[in-house]
Amino acid sequence: MSFDRSDRDRVLEATDLVALVGEHVRLAPKGREHLGLCPFHDDHRPSMAVVTHKGIPFFKCFSCGAAGNAIDFVMRYHRVEFPEALRLLAERSGITLTPRRSESGADRDARTGLLKANEFASRTFRRFLADGSLGTSSREMIARRGVPAAAQESFALGAAPAGWDHLSKVVSAWLARGRGAEDAAVRIEDFVDAGLLRRSSRGEWIDGFRHRLMFPIRSEMGRVVAFGARQIDPEDQPKYLNSPESAVFKKSATLFGLDLAKQSIIRRRLAVVVEGYLDVIACHAAGFDHVVATLGTALTAEHARLLRNKAEAVVLLFDGDEAGQRAADRAVEVFFGGTLDVRIGVLPGGLDPDDLLKKPEGREVLEATVAGAIDSLEFLLQRFRGTWRDATGLSGRQQALEAFLRRLADLGFARMNPLRRSLVLERLAAWTGVTTGALLGAMPAAVSRQVAAPSSMTAESPPPSVASPFDAAIEVPPSRRVAEHTLVSVLIAFPQHAADAPARPLLDPLANVARTWLLAALAAGREPVYSDLFAEVPAPRHRDLDELLALADRRPSLEGDAPTQLAAALDDLDRLDRLAEIDRERLDSASPSDPLEVARRLERLRHGGGRATAIGRIARPA
Ligand SMILES: [Zn+2]
Repeated sequence: MSFDRSDRDRVLEATDLVALVGEHVRLAPKGREHLGLCPFHDDHRPSMAVVTHKGIPFFKCFSCGAAGNAIDFVMRYHRVEFPEALRLLAERSGITLTPRRSESGADRDARTGLLKANEFASRTFRRFLADGSLGTSSREMIARRGVPAAAQESFALGAAPAGWDHLSKVVSAWLARGRGAEDAAVRIEDFVDAGLLRRSSRGEWIDGFRHRLMFPIRSEMGRVVAFGARQIDPEDQPKYLNSPESAVFKKSATLFGLDLAKQSIIRRRLAVVVEGYLDVIACHAAGFDHVVATLGTALTAEHARLLRNKAEAVVLLFDGDEAGQRAADRAVEVFFGGTLDVRIGVLPGGLDPDDLLKKPEGREVLEATVAGAIDSLEFLLQRFRGTWRDATGLSGRQQALEAFLRRLADLGFARMNPLRRSLVLERLAAWTGVTTGALLGAMPAAVSRQVAAPSSMTAESPPPSVASPFDAAIEVPPSRRVAEHTLVSVLIAFPQHAADAPARPLLDPLANVARTWLLAALAAGREPVYSDLFAEVPAPRHRDLDELLALADRRPSLEGDAPTQLAAALDDLDRLDRLAEIDRERLDSASPSDPLEVARRLERLRHGGGRATAIGRIARPA
């Protein structure tokens, strides 16, 4: 497909890259650049820079390498081809692209046709809604639900009239008439693929949606990709109908209202997720314009991906029924291992937001529920606490605890950051009277291994003269690595103490490089730049680095002042050194002809020291 080169240049020239990226990702100025969480990998630290002072503006991620201009950004972010990205940006800047002669069937972009068909249908449904007779029943429903005129307009509500062929007649006439070059690519099959039309048994085109109030579902960029359709006659089941999935619509990756809520979510750093179209509309009308809805599904990892680079926290709002509780439970899983803070708010009285906001005190109650939403992990723990209390007898409680530990393991407990992990174990220990070590021991084997592996396999010193410290491939025992990361996180969090801290040898290359990076910056009297550090660390370890830096972030809010935390971290390393020393001595004294004895001793050592060190320490800097 050929495009006028000048179109590309005009679009790039007219697009403010910082504004464009800022509509998708929260950006913060840093020097002459802007930094934000990279939307193209699982970023935990702002690793994407938007650079505008070096000729053509570009974005670049120091972590995954994603880079390019505004068109590249839209192509990657919205997963569209070049022509579609160009069109979206042209629309955004109000530029008219040079019309093309024709598009042959072969290079025709399926997405373009679907988007055009949906857009045309949306316009038509709106016309039907305004129509004196065709729109009557839909207008009555809108009035009954109390949707204000402004919200009707911004959400572009429409009507699919009762009858078989209202839309199909309009579409047929449109396709038969000469269309503008912009719409030349649309075919009737696009309307079929979009679920808007289908062929009757008699071979005629009939409407896919009949006698329903139509909610256009728009992409983040505001393109209509599907419809949600609500019954008007209670006889017409189901109550809500969605467009089928297509090349432009994936239910599990779409949030209703995101196009309108995006800016507010970025500004407030908070997204609120509700369940229904009318809930979103009622919330926006009441000034809660950071509200979106899933489309009848639980929250998915793809939803999380859409939100995590805009918000720091997400509040999932449910009415109090059991379904909401279950949905909340599932949603916890999605966010369990991520850095997005997920809270659960349960509305009182079993009311959904739409009903609640019709009550005089509705706004205040909704506001209070959002503000008082509790951490999803806390939600899960509180629910366990209830089960634990209700369980009777020793075996009943044992079963309840085991079931909960299995659930934690399934949710990804091993992937959770070490600090949160130990906090959870400590809470459970306090409630149940079972020690954290025993709790961890009762977890499925894979988790306990991953969380607290034995400390008995201390590595030899690294081989001399390797090109990169990461090439050495040393197997650093997890407990040792945790202790080293703890120490480095303290240094990063309290740089004023870093220079005076004793220079303990660190085995983990990541810990080493991070400490060197910090000390070098401090010695040069400049602020350490995270992207420099990421550049020194190979990509497979970026996740570890993210975690280390996140731990550093949390340090100031942890118990103990800087010197106390530093002393505790150094103590931990000392203790591990001593354990490793004892390990070596015992191994040396074990008879080489008795491998069983060696294994037994190792086992004893594992249970003696490793677990307690890895779990207990991080949470409570003594
Ligand atoms: Zn990236």
